[in-house]
Amino acid sequence: MDIITKEINIKGLVQGVGFRPFVYRLASEFQLNGTVENNNLGVYIIIEGQEDKVEGFIKALPNRIPQASHISKLCANKAELRNFSQFRIVKSRSRSEEVTEVSPDIAVCENCLKDMEHQQNRIDYAFTNCTNCGPRFTIIKDLPYDRPKTSMAEFVLCNDCDKEYKDILDRRFHAQPVACNICGPHYKLELDNKSYADINEITDNATKLIESGKILAIKGLGGYHIACDPFNNETVRELRKRKAREGKPLALMFNNIDEIKKYLHVSDEEQKLLISWRRPIVLLKLKKTISEQLALGLDTVGAMLPYMPFHYLLFKKLNIPALVLTSGNFSDEPIIIDNGVARRNLNSIVDGIITYNRRIHNRTDDSVAFVSNNKPRIIRRSRGYAPSPVHLQLNTEGILAAGAELVNCFAIGKGSQVIMSQHIGDLKNLETLEFYKESMKRFSKLFRFKPELVVADMHPEYLSTKFADDLSIETMKVQHHHAHIASCMAENNLDEKVIGISFDGTGYGTDGNIWGGEFLICDLVDFERYTHFEYIKQPGGDATNHHPWRMMLSYLVHYFGEDIVKEKAFLFEGIPHTEIELVGSMISKNINCPLTSSAGRLFDAVAALLGACKNSSYHAEAPMRLEALAGNEKLERKYSYDFGELISFKRCFKEMIEDIENGIDKSTIAMSFHNTIIHLAKHISLKIKEKTAISKIALSGGTFQNRIILGKTEKLLRKSGFEVYSQSNIPSNDGGIALGQIAIAAKRRQLKI
Ligand code: ZN
Ligand code: ZN
Ligand code: FE
Repeated sequence: MDIITKEINIKGLVQGVGFRPFVYRLASEFQLNGTVENNNLGVYIIIEGQEDKVEGFIKALPNRIPQASHISKLCANKAELRNFSQFRIVKSRSRSEEVTEVSPDIAVCENCLKDMEHQQNRIDYAFTNCTNCGPRFTIIKDLPYDRPKTSMAEFVLCNDCDKEYKDILDRRFHAQPVACNICGPHYKLELDNKSYADINEITDNATKLIESGKILAIKGLGGYHIACDPFNNETVRELRKRKAREGKPLALMFNNIDEIKKYLHVSDEEQKLLISWRRPIVLLKLKKTISEQLALGLDTVGAMLPYMPFHYLLFKKLNIPALVLTSGNFSDEPIIIDNGVARRNLNSIVDGIITYNRRIHNRTDDSVAFVSNNKPRIIRRSRGYAPSPVHLQLNTEGILAAGAELVNCFAIGKGSQVIMSQHIGDLKNLETLEFYKESMKRFSKLFRFKPELVVADMHPEYLSTKFADDLSIETMKVQHHHAHIASCMAENNLDEKVIGISFDGTGYGTDGNIWGGEFLICDLVDFERYTHFEYIKQPGGDATNHHPWRMMLSYLVHYFGEDIVKEKAFLFEGIPHTEIELVGSMISKNINCPLTSSAGRLFDAVAALLGACKNSSYHAEAPMRLEALAGNEKLERKYSYDFGELISFKRCFKEMIEDIENGIDKSTIAMSFHNTIIHLAKHISLKIKEKTAISKIALSGGTFQNRIILGKTEKLLRKSGFEVYSQSNIPSNDGGIALGQIAIAAKRRQLKI
């Protein structure tokens, strides 16, 4: 049999995921020699041996890769004979490559779950992991990624674990968090004055407590969760009360995918996302009611599958198929990671705490996604995703992007990569601002990053902007919606002039007004504002966020005059007269009424008009309820609007009110309104194309989290001959702003602008 040599280049997600040891094991299984190494494109293998074995190796490789890896391209070519005498893993040559190889956390794998049933020292062991699975980012303190630099440092490997750790042919070779019943961390249940340390006692008691309507805190991978029985209305109501979480939807963890399908609609693409190793929360349409208290006024529920060994152990005992699993915090504070803080702060919410003695270093929330037009759409990018880099065609080195304010993420530039932070949250909250600063320090240390240039939002009052200004290094400011569109462009590798449609809730404009219904012509350097939704007064500024009816009043007064309040009094049902008068006089006297072209505020107004949400208890509740109200997506009915220089919704409001008076179904009105926005997106885009011949469109901004708007706009624009780009792996909300900021800064720096 002939000896042959082949070179294999693999691109994709192949670094920091145990790929090289996997290649080593596969090579030895096929009795082949050669080398494997990381390079800046991916993984490079030279393989040498008997021809049939080499071919067998190449055939087997893509089918057996570690679960957290993904091959986008594999090229194998004949190469010169080297006469290797063994197979070797070659160390990374470049320091900066090593540095960006921090893997996100990975859901426990099938093999480890089996080990928990058979392997003597891992029976029911809740920290079982291997090279293919387990905690990563959440336990890393510093690089290189070695056990002493993680929160596993204090746990000394026992002989059995040490053997596995050192044996390159073992699935646990160099698995930094490797542990077992004898040497690793342990769970504990703290209940009143008792505590339980035996895992079966813990899960038995937890089951009893949850099934009898009690609420528990459970330490997760990136922070504490609060858990209870989702089928028990009383308990869920009690949880909302204790957590001061009036209306916000609560996520569920289901025992398995079949159970999810009993309660929620799951498409193939949604299933893929649910069972992926990243295990995000996926927003799914309700099939049947789980509890009236779960997703008030919405038609979706966020569901996820177990991802820690402990989750599996608990579900083995539970007789209910799902748990409420919401973040362990108060309202908008960051999720709690510290055991002491959990004991102090969660005591008033929970009846018992399940904790463990391994520290969480990097806080992560559960990531949240939905599927539209067969593509995953990340809304909250954290556990399982951060800190995976985004690759650009630009030099990003040394650029720090401060992000926006409300759902902040920051980002750092390394080489040609952008490393986005995990979801940080609303910086106006003091604890969150602390988390922001602390994470920035950690990222700088972890990724050996020194900012030379900091890029921030133009908003002078954003805390992220103030933070950037205080750094006393070179700063650059970027307009909010330009950053949204640039984020979409960067994610899709676009670096040219595009039509940018940014439908968004807020954002500081170059004229000092609040923007958010924007049609831009832009590239990575600059933008031109082609047109936008007509400016409307926003009475009380941010105060309207909790009172969507204020925007309704403002729109109606703007288009039909103050008498509308008397003429159409039925529209104001349930709102105290004194409040209407107060806000009305703010509008007429122009007191504290910033001007806004925001799409989010328009959706607020329409949600209030249709009675879907007059006052809201959490961010974006009104647009979410309006979306839920809109029934049949196939309906193509729409309203009129005017486009001269700006876009006016006067006729749209007139027709909506007529429809309400004529008793037209509210869901029909809601869908007709959605269609209006979708059609005007096409109409204006065609105008821009006429003028500029640009046919590529980038869609971004918080309003594109609305599935109807995103799904139908994309389809309609494609049908109209446009090349349409939207966000998938990076949020289209303000969590994606930092990517756009870095892309713009990198491009301007390259052109020395
Ligand atoms: Zn595993
Ligand atoms: Zn051990
Ligand atoms: Fe925004």
